[in-house]
Amino acid sequence: MANDRMLQFVEREQAYPGKRAAGDRAADFREIADRYAVPSAEDQAGRCSQCGVPYCSVHCPLHNHIPDWLRLTAEGRLREAYELSNATSTMPEICGRICPQDRLCEGNCVIEFSGHGAVTIGSVEKFITDTAWEEGWVEPLVPGRPRGQSVGVIGAGPAGLTAAEYLRAAGYDVHVYDRYDRAGGLLTYGIPGFKLEKPVVTRRIDRLKAGGIVFHHGFAVGEDAGLDELRARHDAILIATGVYRARAVDVSGADSAGVVAALDYLVASNRKGFGDAVPAFDDGSLDAYGRDVIVIGGGDTAMDCVRTAKRQGARSVKCLYRRDRANMPGSQREVANAEDEGVEFVWLSAPAAFEGEGAVSSVRVRRMRLGAPDASGRRAPEPDPAGDETLHADLVIKALGFDAEDLPTLFGAPDLGVSRWGTVLVDGRTLMTSLDGVFAAGDIVRGASLVVWAIRDGRDVAATMQAWLKTKAARERVAA
Ligand SMILES: Cc1cc2nc3c(=O)[nH]c(=O)nc-3n(C[C@H](O)[C@H](O)[C@H](O)COP(=O)(O)OP(=O)(O)OC[C@H]3O[C@@H](n4cnc5c(N)ncnc54)[C@H](O)[C@@H]3O)c2cc1C
Ligand code: SF4
Repeated sequence: MANDRMLQFVEREQAYPGKRAAGDRAADFREIADRYAVPSAEDQAGRCSQCGVPYCSVHCPLHNHIPDWLRLTAEGRLREAYELSNATSTMPEICGRICPQDRLCEGNCVIEFSGHGAVTIGSVEKFITDTAWEEGWVEPLVPGRPRGQSVGVIGAGPAGLTAAEYLRAAGYDVHVYDRYDRAGGLLTYGIPGFKLEKPVVTRRIDRLKAGGIVFHHGFAVGEDAGLDELRARHDAILIATGVYRARAVDVSGADSAGVVAALDYLVASNRKGFGDAVPAFDDGSLDAYGRDVIVIGGGDTAMDCVRTAKRQGARSVKCLYRRDRANMPGSQREVANAEDEGVEFVWLSAPAAFEGEGAVSSVRVRRMRLGAPDASGRRAPEPDPAGDETLHADLVIKALGFDAEDLPTLFGAPDLGVSRWGTVLVDGRTLMTSLDGVFAAGDIVRGASLVVWAIRDGRDVAATMQAWLKTKAARERVAA
């Protein structure tokens, strides 16, 4: 019976859920993809070839049991599919929405290699867990037998929340500290609603709160307490603070009014989505409405900025990137979405100066070309003798990526070991930092990465922290 439903990839074409029309979707911040109807999800899951070595799972950072939950979905056993999908991930419906599947699971699907188009794994994953929420199959977080030990987690992004969930389920008292007023990290304040609607994040956080995890919002470690103070409060600490130091654009006029940082811009937009008062948005500084916008950068943050500016009603939106389309770091899927929504890409171009009296009114743009490959093997951009041109812009958004903050100084912890890029160093086996009982996970260890890797790190570090906490408890029992 099962096999009748599988291996349908030759007869049945790949079909992603439909997208709302570009004109409609650029008018609001709702997600752009429709949802599968039950029969479509089952049909698409039935295209899986159930290969012996599932490369999709191998290339999923969580090693999700993809072929198994696809088979259960194809058989209409949605609740079991959800339970299996949930067994390896704390946020399957979020990964289903925002993982770059073309580089991970779907990009390594065997039927993609055979020319039939990958199984639409991410969309099925999203469908399964959204259905589970609606049907009431998502179980509450039940704390394990109390261990009498507590853990402090610094940072309520996907890495911190994942570790918090597993540790609470194992019976630890868990306190999460975050300098923002809402949990979720970049899921809440970085990634725009058209990729990830906020109630999807909020229901996850509410479940953690109901499970007894204590959240300390508006608590900035380094200002409200040093690391030592938190170490004295808890048996173990997890640093999961992400990376927030925006890379600078080193050209004249970079500090002019109207030249803003990507995250300031995106946080303001997300806050407006929550209905918050945001003075810098309300006075127009961080609002693209009616303006000619230029976004500098070619990564996913830049794509989120251009598409946000469109939704805010910008008069024009251009994206400047110094390499060409084939060599950009951002997802091709997001570029295509942005183009559909009316964003213009100016490939092979870099800012030479931000010009204007008092506030930016134009960008001098240097034309670039691709030279010889650099140490990374990518062809390095270099100025093109063709020269410069000037583009009008009264809002410029800098989206060149993020580095780690100086945590040893910020946390008053000079002995915290960091790399030359400022990322926190951990032991590869224990995931512990140079400080006893202080662990780290997510972007603050990897550098700017992906949500699915933050979840994986949170899962791994929860396991090593538990092992360490058990040894600590045993040591203390012997000493008593
Ligand atoms: C605009 C944007 C779009 C992105 N889009 C995608 C995408 O589509 N798909 C994808 O997979 N990834 C995407 N990413 C990357 C992804 O969001 C990150 O890799 C992921 O969120 C990292 O998780 P984290 O838990 O390590 O850190 P974060 O999510 O950054 O969370 C860290 C938390 O720590 C808190 N914090 C920091 N310092 C302190 C302190 N001193 N005291 C207290 N709290 C502190 C912060 O307030 C924050 O809440 C995007 C990133 C950005 C910036
Ligand atoms: S978590 Fe990401 S990579 Fe893994 S199966 Fe889901 S969408 Fe694919």
